[in-house]
Amino acid sequence: MLTSHIARVGAISVRRALPQRLQRTVGAWCFADHLGPASVTAQRGLDIGPHPHIGLQTLTWLTAGEALHRDGLGTEQTIRPGQLNLMTAGGGVAHSEEATGSYAGRLEGIQLWVALPEATRHGPASFEHHAALPRFAEPALDVTVLVGAYGGVSSPARHDTPLVGLDLALRAEALVPLAPAYEHALIVLEGAVSAPGASLGPGQIAIWQPGRDALRLVPREPSRAILLGGPPFPETISMWWNFVARTRDEIAAAARSWRERDGRFAPVASALARIEAPGLPWHRGDRPRP
Ligand code: MN
Repeated sequence: MLTSHIARVGAISVRRALPQRLQRTVGAWCFADHLGPASVTAQRGLDIGPHPHIGLQTLTWLTAGEALHRDGLGTEQTIRPGQLNLMTAGGGVAHSEEATGSYAGRLEGIQLWVALPEATRHGPASFEHHAALPRFAEPALDVTVLVGAYGGVSSPARHDTPLVGLDLALRAEALVPLAPAYEHALIVLEGAVSAPGASLGPGQIAIWQPGRDALRLVPREPSRAILLGGPPFPETISMWWNFVARTRDEIAAAARSWRERDGRFAPVASALARIEAPGLPWHRGDRPRP
């Protein structure tokens, strides 16, 4: 069992479950921020101004509230619980996460990043909104398939490497089948869940290495959790700020493009202030941040 660290993103605090120092990725999943719970107004939401990404996909999944996504492709998309926003950065895209102009109340969810493989990480950016996803109601739990397949049904969400991402609403003990070739992680958003070798609450993550064919989960109260999995990512990634790359030079080039507005990142039609990149850590004699 590992503990998330608290970070500040835009206007709200998050519990960052991935990356962990001892395990940077779970499959191609390389980042997981549990957002909120926070209280937002029609005009003040996540308030994450325009910022760039390369080499990854962002997945936004809310358990409460509404948020507005804008990006340099011209997308303007409100997201609500049960829906998935999936942005593929490829070689570069910028976006913002904003108040909707109408929703006020509780906001909670998770933002996940997926490292793109060599084959697509330099490719064109794209955005998908999935208004509905496959959902199963079983006696012990409800399962929503965010990415990949469960119970013979596949999510329509794009993935460039084998992946699974499930939202689990647990009411009673459940045996969740796993792909033995995958490594897996469980992130608890609400409640308390006993899992093999771990007892988890919000802010905690458990990771299992490949070789398991099922996960026995015992909720101690009605609980909500995210299960992530995939085969160990075969490429060594270099991750810094909002960039997933392979080398420091690639990261420095992306930071320069953002700073100099050289056209690599199309502008976002947002009233929020742009977020500038911090100084590159190795220019201060440090190692890159994990
Ligand atoms: Mn982002």
